[in-house]
Amino acid sequence: MGESFENLCRLYEALERLNSRNEIIDLMSGYFKQLTCEELEAVVRLSTTGFEEALNVSWATVVEALKGAYDFDLEEFRKAFDETGDVGSAVKAVLERRQGPRQTLLAFKPLTVTELYSSLREISRVKGPGSRTKRLRMLKGVFGKTSPPEVKYLVRILLGDLRIGVKEGLVARALAKAFQVPYDVFEKAFMLSGDLAETALTAKVKGVEGLLGTSYRPFNPIKPMLAGMAYSVREVLDEFKGEAAFEYKLDGARVQIHFFDGRVRVFSRRLKDVTVSLPEVVAVVKKTPSLENCVLEGEVVAVDSSGRPLPFQELMHRFKRVKGVEEEARRLPVRLYLFDILVADGVLTIDMPYLKRRRLLVEKAGSIPVVDCLITQDIEEAERFYKSSLEMGHEGLVAKRLGSTYHPGVRGRDWLKVKATLDNLDLVIVGGEYGYGRRYRWISDYYLAALDPSTGGFAVVGKTFKGLTDTEFEGLTRILKKDIVRREGRRVWVNPRVVVEVAYNEVQKSPKYPSGFALRFARIVRIRWDKRVEEADTIDRVREIYRKQFERKSMPP
Ligand code: ATP
Repeated sequence: MGESFENLCRLYEALERLNSRNEIIDLMSGYFKQLTCEELEAVVRLSTTGFEEALNVSWATVVEALKGAYDFDLEEFRKAFDETGDVGSAVKAVLERRQGPRQTLLAFKPLTVTELYSSLREISRVKGPGSRTKRLRMLKGVFGKTSPPEVKYLVRILLGDLRIGVKEGLVARALAKAFQVPYDVFEKAFMLSGDLAETALTAKVKGVEGLLGTSYRPFNPIKPMLAGMAYSVREVLDEFKGEAAFEYKLDGARVQIHFFDGRVRVFSRRLKDVTVSLPEVVAVVKKTPSLENCVLEGEVVAVDSSGRPLPFQELMHRFKRVKGVEEEARRLPVRLYLFDILVADGVLTIDMPYLKRRRLLVEKAGSIPVVDCLITQDIEEAERFYKSSLEMGHEGLVAKRLGSTYHPGVRGRDWLKVKATLDNLDLVIVGGEYGYGRRYRWISDYYLAALDPSTGGFAVVGKTFKGLTDTEFEGLTRILKKDIVRREGRRVWVNPRVVVEVAYNEVQKSPKYPSGFALRFARIVRIRWDKRVEEADTIDRVREIYRKQFERKSMPP
């Protein structure tokens, strides 16, 4: 008999109670060590996010499956949810009350982690007509094999919110420790393969040598390098101590392009395959033979007939479109601008310094534009460049250290973004209220929350109905409705899934929300379909902005 899911749930329970990073790593690494390869793969995939996207199961579907498998009462669930504030715990409480925990536990043959993983994988593969009914039946089958304490975590896994306070980075550290390999070696292999389970298996089976031998794989997206923040070009020049490369920060969506064996595939910032939605990107790359055997990064921008950038929202429609793409491409053409090259002529280039990569990119890009760049140490010249970027409708600048290598998946200080709207926050919609008048059918007034790393949950910091178009309200309502976990009159609470960029006038200290903060005049700038909820800003960032704005404002006499 293999490792049971029940045992994994015991680990989750224990992890939920721990706060110290080291203790968490120790506990997990001890657990990982004793697993077989198959079990290790299953456990890593079940325990990290990303899986739920392939599953694509909404809360509404989970409820239906629960009702099919158990005597599940939604009203009772709502009451339990009010007490616990967590979907998984509330489901567990309801099931235990109905069936009695002991009895239930005895009635089940333990489900193994590998069985669970393969069932869920099968569910994710069901496509085509009648798939909803089929998936629901399969899901009921899985629920039928689990006891209430397992259901608690299964529900969380299905919804992509395990809430054990353990982020992917910690799991990676625990894996490196379990298989006694240096963390930096493990991390690099992981960022290149983009697949934690696969990297874990390499570490287990082949050790350091195996990890060092990990290279990119065509059509397997590499985790993107991310930028830190700077408040001004002066800060950049001070920090870089000398010359910096300033590039326009285009207001579009990031893509990673793989071109091998005559085939092109395009991945989004979240590493989702968006090839079919962007035929003109594919076409332009295919027409550039010098880019064959390369991995490139760039920004896709939507443009109007005169070539001026269009709002990000419009662009996101293109990324999500899989039907009627040609027609949509005519209505809303996009343009590709390149800014990095990670593989050239089949050779990984991420360890080359920025300047060398940039030269290589320019050499290979042919007629595809490469993002404008200014290399300077002159503050005035840099300021002028920044201004010109904003005037042209871009977001600002991304400054890059000339000698820096490309660090996949890392948000460091080798790239620094300077934006006019620097303090905007990326927040998660955790609830909302139905509007009034014209908006009465839409959930249109949203509760916005920051991540709270100390609890693994979300802390509400504001509420707004400002900033979105009618079409966006309608679309968002459709999505949020499927994820409602609690209703209070016209107010609803949803499973967190959508990230929005929010502008505001001030962060205030306020007793209104338990977070202790409230945003004044919050308004949604855009929906960040390209961000996961784990990438939202944290309550610590909100606190920091609060402190910073206080520093910048003159103190009362
Ligand atoms: P933001 O919310 O500011 O777009 P982010 O979290 O998506 O940030 P960051 O790494 O913080 O990503 O900022 C860099 C982003 O800016 C990239 O992901 C990319 O989409 C975009 N970008 C635009 N122009 C450039 C450029 N010249 N070089 C690098 N990134 C660029």
